[in-house]
Amino acid sequence: MLYGTISEYCTNASCPQMAAGDCRYLWADKKTTKPVECSAPEYVDNLMGWVESQLNDETVFPIKFDSSYPKKFKEICSTIYKRFFRVYAHIYHAHFKQIQTLGADAHLNTCFKHFMYFVLEFKVRANTHRTAASFPLAWLTLRCPCLA
Ligand SMILES: [Zn+2]
Repeated sequence: MLYGTISEYCTNASCPQMAAGDCRYLWADKKTTKPVECSAPEYVDNLMGWVESQLNDETVFPIKFDSSYPKKFKEICSTIYKRFFRVYAHIYHAHFKQIQTLGADAHLNTCFKHFMYFVLEFKVRANTHRTAASFPLAWLTLRCPCLA
């Protein structure tokens, strides 16, 4: 939803690589044989489609009372969160000035804070790359002592 506010600025021309600063993110799913480079909007589009397919897959997110969760449930959730984190990282690195111009910076920060609270509370591995991970989190800890 937040990404939609800057989607007109995040195009194949402006963001030909999905990146946050020096970190470049590749896309991989069952359709790819190896991780592939793509633009930021292509990455986000792939991500939304992939997450929707995960949420609709009853073998991953069972809806029947007597069903069990798969052994890889936490791993799948961590991948979802890692990829969503990359979108936040991209927005903070590449589009924060546009977010501020739109007056959506407080909303972005609140959404990201809630996202990180969930990640920290449930120890979901949102990102393994410290450089990309440290920027928004370090930025927010300056403003939110409870995250420090
Ligand atoms: Zn972008």
